[in-house]
Amino acid sequence: MRCAECGAPLDDGRTCQDDFYTMLGWEWEYQLLDVHHLMVLSYNLQHPSILSPDGLTVSIGLLRQFLEEGITPELMRKRMSAAVDSGTRTFTITAREGAVGRYAHPITWTMRASDVVHAGVDQYYESVRKWAESALKSLECED
Ligand SMILES: [Zn+2]
Repeated sequence: MRCAECGAPLDDGRTCQDDFYTMLGWEWEYQLLDVHHLMVLSYNLQHPSILSPDGLTVSIGLLRQFLEEGITPELMRKRMSAAVDSGTRTFTITAREGAVGRYAHPITWTMRASDVVHAGVDQYYESVRKWAESALKSLECED
């Protein structure tokens, strides 16, 4: 079995969502919160039906800013809440009926949620950073 969205090979009865919850569990249990933003973005971008089309565009932009500009989640939150407070955000991030994110062409991902989980909790920060960087690279090949 493979995931219909990201193409990850899946063990019987497992889904990428199970891996997502495993990672969230590690973050809470071991307080591994520094890469939470990268994990959520990487996961959502590889499962674009979670997002609205606008949410997909925004998420790609966020991933790029985090990785290429080195912006911290704190600074990003400030920027985003300023935009929300001023009422300039006129769209929703998550998918809704009739507005579901998808890519124009299928994207070949080189790393997925299951790879992070298989590498284990001891490698978590390193794995998520690698995952996020690989996701951005895959996305930029499509541009
Ligand atoms: Zn998947």
